[in-house]
Amino acid sequence: MVLQLALQLSMTQSPKKNIAILGSTGSIGKQALEIVKANPDRLQVEVLTAQNNADLLIEQAIAFEPNAVVVGEEKYKYVKEALTKHDIKVYTGADALCQVVQMETVDIVLAAIVGFAGLRSTLAAIEAGKPIALANKETLVVAGALVTSLAKEKGVNIYPVDSEHSAIFQCLAGEFNNKIEKIYLTASGGPFRGKDAKFLANVTKEDALKHPNWNMGAKITIDSATMMNKGLEIIEAGWLFNLKPVQVDVIIHPQSIIHSLVQFEDGSLKAQMGLPDMKLPIQYALFYPQRVPSTFKRFDFGSYPSLTFEKPDTNTFVSIRLAFEAMRKGGNMPCILNAANEVAVGCFLNDEIKFKEIPVVVEKCMEKVKYIAKPTLQDYMESDKEARLIAGSLAKGQMHN
Ligand code: NAD
Ligand code: MG
Repeated sequence: MVLQLALQLSMTQSPKKNIAILGSTGSIGKQALEIVKANPDRLQVEVLTAQNNADLLIEQAIAFEPNAVVVGEEKYKYVKEALTKHDIKVYTGADALCQVVQMETVDIVLAAIVGFAGLRSTLAAIEAGKPIALANKETLVVAGALVTSLAKEKGVNIYPVDSEHSAIFQCLAGEFNNKIEKIYLTASGGPFRGKDAKFLANVTKEDALKHPNWNMGAKITIDSATMMNKGLEIIEAGWLFNLKPVQVDVIIHPQSIIHSLVQFEDGSLKAQMGLPDMKLPIQYALFYPQRVPSTFKRFDFGSYPSLTFEKPDTNTFVSIRLAFEAMRKGGNMPCILNAANEVAVGCFLNDEIKFKEIPVVVEKCMEKVKYIAKPTLQDYMESDKEARLIAGSLAKGQMHN
């Protein structure tokens, strides 16, 4: 009873958290700001950052009055001028991103930049001891060893935002030292579930950008269509929950209601369920261990009379195989896989290669870039650069085949 009262008091009196949202103009960033808006007593925006979408960043800055914003160099002057009458500092550049997350006034950092570009600022935040709500899965894919060892050294918690990893994190609550036997990452299967290689040969960008269940940024939407998103998530899960490749499995669940499952050593399976809405995992990460009330739409059993499951078709969607290969190999191999994938997806979005060529570029790149078993941060930077160069020329080659 006393404990309950103390818990209640600590929950109602929890002070406002100052949040830095890296990538505030993206799909995750915008949803995070909806959470801030719904919780004015719990959250205060301290930092907002964006690369290109200057108008939205300005709008967000005026609405949420952060202490500082960081924008890509091309838009710096424009944003600076637009915010002159406001008490908001405007910065640009990758170094500025690393500095703002380290400000004393920042309590938590939401890492929601897309791709390798999110790595340095996440590392800088960990270095400064800031808790991380991690959406930017590529950070762990590229440099999981470095990120997790630094977090351990600094005593920093990394709260997963990715819905599957949040589900696993939620399933582990209260399990103390009970070991994970294995996890099942669920996947919707994307827009091309059940299709064969012949079908994939002719899909267009428009087809690939139509995800059945989630509304996300362009890069992750294409990753979902190739199933590389699940590949990246396999590696991400390995680092977050300290799992070996054999402890990670993927199951196709087209309704996206079960967000992932944990199997314990007694054979018990725990799942976390809910409608597909990223605001839930974002909010859970920001307020952990508290569950803050929300008005998010509730699940209705009548609308989902059956939940179904299938094995993934890894012969057609080879990205899952490539990701397992990279995870098993370790070192800089996941970094190479990620860089090649970022380039290949970019080329596909620019109509430079076909959909089916994305994994071909990734696989060839994994064969060609120099393997390093124990990379340093500098090695990761160089492997990323080398992989991008090779992937770029491979993509050009594909185009002329
Ligand atoms: P998005 O493309 O919608 O937004 C990306 C954000 O990053 C934008 O604000 C953009 O300005 C910024 N950005 C892009 N390149 C940058 C650079 N070079 N330097 C600094 N900032 C840069 O992406 P998203 O869908 O919000 O995804 C963000 C991250 O979250 C990705 O790593 C993605 O895998 C992960 N994630 C997203 C979802 C989702 O539902 N959208 C779900 C799970 C995980
Ligand atoms: Mg996910």
